[in-house]
Amino acid sequence: MDPIGTGQTEEMTGRFAPSPTGELHLGNLRTAAVAWLSARSAGREFVVRMEDLDRVQSKPEHESAQLRDLAAIGIDWDGPVLRQSERFDLYDAAIEKLAAAGLVYECFCSRRDIRRDIEAAASAPHGPPGSYPGTCRELTEAEREARLASGRPPALRLRTNGETFEFVDRLAGASAGGVDDVVLRRNDGVPAYNLAVVIDDGLQGVTDVVRGDDLLPSTPRQLLLQRLLGIEAPSYLHIPLVHGADGERLAKSHGATTLRELADHGIGADRVVSWIADSLGLAAADEPVDLADLVDRFDAAALPPGPCPAPDFIAAES
Ligand code: GLU
Repeated sequence: MDPIGTGQTEEMTGRFAPSPTGELHLGNLRTAAVAWLSARSAGREFVVRMEDLDRVQSKPEHESAQLRDLAAIGIDWDGPVLRQSERFDLYDAAIEKLAAAGLVYECFCSRRDIRRDIEAAASAPHGPPGSYPGTCRELTEAEREARLASGRPPALRLRTNGETFEFVDRLAGASAGGVDDVVLRRNDGVPAYNLAVVIDDGLQGVTDVVRGDDLLPSTPRQLLLQRLLGIEAPSYLHIPLVHGADGERLAKSHGATTLRELADHGIGADRVVSWIADSLGLAAADEPVDLADLVDRFDAAALPPGPCPAPDFIAAES
């Protein structure tokens, strides 16, 4: 199947797809390690894709730092690193295809409008938290023209019907969630994450998606887009995020969380790899291991299910 005519392959492939908007922290590196181990333990190819759609926050120096840090913990990849910023034509073609099927509409709402309409709605809209309440879905021509005349350029949204998607996550097990009228193109003309990720996973022949579990609620949206665009769904494995001692998602405020910051405190990539291995139940605490040593030990079904506590060394020695 080659739905948008650019060579979807039958290869089995895993991937890591960071956004180059900063340096990778320990949580990102741990997720990348699982993605790599999952692919390599099954003898699969592994690709790295830069999700640099956001042209303001994405920076070449973040990209090179991320690639350097992935290599430093022992991750290698096949083929060139693909950049989403170079593939807008593909995303535009997919939007045109959806539009030709009558599945796209213009949305003039600001974030604030959407918040207001969600609060005012009698019942929560179907779909993940923060789902679009459908404000612009059925605008009359006169309403549409009035909004266009106000000068705010529209975003493009997918017209959905509140369907629920069921899927089996390789860690969380049976999962289900609704879809909303997801953005396809932002009002600054930039293609939206959910669309780009589906096109690229399809075209890169990605069969195994491994990523942070903050993206679990977006998976039904991506399953819908795959179905509409004739792209085969990959398998999904969502990794619980790393949390600081306060229970919050790992962030700068927790201490030294990047390889560069840790190196400044005398903690090398080898120590980080040992922590990743221990946190995944693949090695004893402080066992010196290379990521490659873990390929034969990796078993997705045996991964620890809950959020992962950050290592003591991020604060203790910073
Ligand atoms: N680029 C996304 C991020 O850095 C990940 C996308 C994905 O893995 O599907 O959060």
